[in-house]
This record gives sequence, structure tokens and C-alpha cells, in this order.
Amino acid sequence: MFNHCSQNFKPFETWFLFNIKGFHDRKLLMGRCPICKCFYVELVETRVTDGKIFSDGGIKEKATKLVELCKNQVDYSSLDLKVAKMPNKKMPRGFRYGVNTIVNVKGEKKLRQRAVDFFGNRELIREVPLKTALV
Ligand SMILES: [Zn+2]
Repeated sequence: MFNHCSQNFKPFETWFLFNIKGFHDRKLLMGRCPICKCFYVELVETRVTDGKIFSDGGIKEKATKLVELCKNQVDYSSLDLKVAKMPNKKMPRGFRYGVNTIVNVKGEKKLRQRAVDFFGNRELIREVPLKTALV
């Protein structure tokens, strides 16, 4: 359970990470604070020698740093377990950000809005004629 802005909330996604030297049972938990809407990320790992659990978490730059640190160590994520039921579907997972591109389709300009994640997965959210998009 996370706590931010004096509010408890559950992570929406968990990455199960590979073991590294000296540490196992490694997880990266991600959630969104319901009060301030910030992303909250926490890395939890267990030291092999004595079973002591270490956790390190935060928001903003700290959260981004933890995601960047762990994204190449992901064994599987809680979302993979759901996505596994839908083969061939590579959906953006975890943190998503919006990317807008303007494309030319048969002389008509269209705005494509995509959700992109840190792994380069993208999902087309919508495509609208540019005139409509600007009003
Ligand atoms: Zn908060």
C-alpha cells in the first residue's frame, strides 16, 4: 500500500524484476496518488544474506529514475498477466504519455493522438481531421 498526501492507495501495476547480485524478490510498484494525481513509484527488494527488505520510493524525477533503472530488468509485469490472455496485443503499459503527430492522408491533414510508454509500445487513441482538432 502506498501513502502520499496522507492518503493510502494501491499500486496499479507491479513489475517483477530479475534478481541482481545480493538481492532477490525484486519488485517495482507503480501507482497514482488519488489526491495530487502524481505517479508514485517504489522499488522493493530483499537482501539475500539476511532477508532484510529494502524499499526506495518517490515521485517525479525519483519515480522516473526508478523506472529508467528497472525497465531493462523486468521479468514480467502484473499487466503482462492480463495481456497474456490477448495474444498479439502489445499495449503501452505503466507510465503513458501522449504523442500527437500530424499526418497527411490523401491531401487531408489529420491529427493522430497516441499513447506511448517507456518501452516504445504505442496505441492509437484517436485520429481526427485537423480542422476539427483545432476548434
Ligand atoms: Zn499525492
